[in-house]
Formats: sequence, structure tokens, C-alpha cells
Amino acid sequence: MNALHKSVHHSAVFDHPEMGDHEDIVFVQDKATGLKAIIAVHDTTLGPALGGCRVWPYENPADALTDALRLSRGMTYKNSLAGLDLGGGKAVIIADPRKDKSEALMEAFGRHVERLSGTYITAEDVGVSPDDMEAVARQTAHVRGTKATGLGDPSPYTALGVFEGIKASTKFVYGSSDLSGKTVSVQGLGHVGHDVARQLHEAGARLIVSDIHAPAVLRAIDAFGATAVDPAEAHMVEADIFVPCALGAGLNARTVPQIQAKIVAGAANNQLQTPADGEALKKRGILYAPDYAINAGGVISIALATADSGDKLVREKTIAIGETLATIFERAAREGSTPERVADTMAEERLAKAKSA
Ligand code: NAD
Repeated sequence: MNALHKSVHHSAVFDHPEMGDHEDIVFVQDKATGLKAIIAVHDTTLGPALGGCRVWPYENPADALTDALRLSRGMTYKNSLAGLDLGGGKAVIIADPRKDKSEALMEAFGRHVERLSGTYITAEDVGVSPDDMEAVARQTAHVRGTKATGLGDPSPYTALGVFEGIKASTKFVYGSSDLSGKTVSVQGLGHVGHDVARQLHEAGARLIVSDIHAPAVLRAIDAFGATAVDPAEAHMVEADIFVPCALGAGLNARTVPQIQAKIVAGAANNQLQTPADGEALKKRGILYAPDYAINAGGVISIALATADSGDKLVREKTIAIGETLATIFERAAREGSTPERVADTMAEERLAKAKSA
């Protein structure tokens, strides 16, 4: 009795530190396929909760819950700020994507998404392939970014939004969005980073590039006449703009004091390790483009494209990321705030307005 009481107490979710305003948290179990998943719907004020499905070998369900709660809340903010009529949600499947995934497992996940009747709309995230999503789509219509529902790979739109965001940042700092002659350090040359580098090159910027994967660096040297640096030094080279397009938490107590650039604007998710790192950038006079604002092109393409719509609307909304960032920068300067705090406030203001309407 005592042990039971204790375990119930320790697994309580309602006082979870990330619980916030979440509307639904669904724990999914399918014994036949071994599926264990959590679907978190954070907020549906603006519309159905759209957010990707992540497959990750979490050490325990508590870590999976924490991730689902944080990521779904993040999607509410991202979708709100991007001007989408969609709420925020996220699914996590507790499994090793290399060993445990099967068609049957993904189909079982799809059946559980279907049961939510469209409150949650799923899409690809870390550990999920296009084929996995096709399996999900055989069981539910509440899925985006599959062959039948959209434009396919979202990264070209993410890259377009990042490029527009870099121009808006450059305009704010230098008074003109002209990139010719600017030196830009691009860290990470994957799907997004390479395409951002291409656009920067075409706009006349001088490129310094880095990646832990040598062929990606060679490709950028060949295509753009770029100079290579060690990935660990990408943030500290003499450059006007630093563009992180690798992994998160690259802006931290060690790296921020070493940055030479006047602007940090890139695609990577969760760039600031802590809020204090955003304050530190501001103190150093470095303009930071909030990650979830500048990298929203991908979710815009997933949300708005239909099989036969073409990409006109998606491109328009993605290009508008530049205007959103200009608004954020001006307001942050006016209020003595940081861009990431203003971005959060603007996302919350849109939600509050929709709630009171
Ligand atoms: P990707 O896996 O295609 O590319 C990442 C690249 O970074 C790889 O080439 C990898 O070798 C390199 N890399 C990894 N660690 C590195 C390090 N320490 N230093 C330098 N390079 C390193 O991923 P992607 O789709 O291009 O996404 C890049 C970033 O943008 C990620 O943080 C992702 O979460 C974020 N993002 C992507 C999209 C999208 O549409 N793909 C949308 C929003 C955000």
C-alpha cells in the first residue's frame, strides 16, 4: 500500500514542472507492436494542434513526458508567431529508431492519432522517415508532410525563411539588407545549412563554412568558393553574421563571449542553452534572431501546402518571416527587451486575442 502510494505520488503528472496549460496528454500503449508513445496537446486556441512525431530511445517514460510537454508548448508558440491557424502539439514514441521501428508500430501510432479525431495533427520529426509517415498516413488523415498531403521535404522552405531572416537582421543592424561583401559563418551544412549558404553566396556574401562531415564542407568550398574552419571555431571567426544550422544549445556561457559577429541568425533549434545566454548576447550588442521565429518556414510548408496547391502561399508566408523579425527587433529595442522575450510575448498576445474573441 505504502509502495503503491509512493509510486502514484512520484508519477503524478499534474504538478509536473513542464505541465503549463496543456489540454490533453495521451499515453498510448499497443502491446501487439510494442508501441509506447505520449501525445501532448498543449493548446488548440488557434486550431488543431500540429507538431511532429519524434522517435527516441528515452531512458525512462518521465524523460519522454518532459520532452513531449516542452516540445508541444514550443509548437504552440511557433505556430502562433508564424501566423498559422494551428495550435501546438507533439508526439514522442519511446523506441530506438534504428532497432525498434516497424511498419506495424508506425501504423499503430497512426491508429491512435486517428482516435483523437483531428485534435492532434502529426508530421515528421527526429527519428522518423518519409516511409514511416506513409505508414502512419494509412491509418489516419490527420497527418501532414506526406507525399499525398504536401510539398515533401520542408527544408528548402526553412532555408528560405532563414535567408529572409538574415536579410531582416542585416537591415536592422547595418541599415540595409544588402549582403554583398558581408562575411558570414555558416555552421552545419546539412539540408538547411547548404541551401542557406547557396542563397548567401548568390547575394554576394563571403562564406566561412564548417561541418563535422567533411564531404559537406568540400561541397560548399566547390560550389561557393567558401573558406573552411573547424566546426568548434565557427562562432569565433571574424565575421559579420553567424548562422548556426547544426544542433542546439550552441549559444552558451562559453561561446557567447567568443562571438565576433554582430548578428546570430540561423536554423538550429533551441540555440540558447539558457535564457541568460540571450541576455548575454544583448549585453554584448549582438542581435539574435529567435530560433523558432526564423526557422518556421518548414512548419509553414507542412501546415499550408496541400497536394495540388503549389507553393505560392507557403513562399509568401515564409518570406513574411523577415517582417515578423523586423517587428520583433524594433519592439525589443523600444522596450529594452531581448528578441526572444518579445517573440514569446507576441505569440502569447495572438493567443490571448483569439481566446477573448
Ligand atoms: P541535417 O541533419 O540535414 O544537417 C545538420 C548538419 O549539421 C549535418 O551536415 C551535420 O554533419 C552537421 N553537424 C552536426 N553537428 C555539428 C557540429 N557540432 N558542428 C558543425 N556541423 C555539425 O539537419 P537540417 O535539416 O539541415 O537541420 C539543421 C538544424 O535546423 C537542426 O537544428 C534542425 O533541428 C533545425 N531545423 C530544421 C528544419 C528543417 O526543415 N529541416 C526546420 C526547423 C529547424
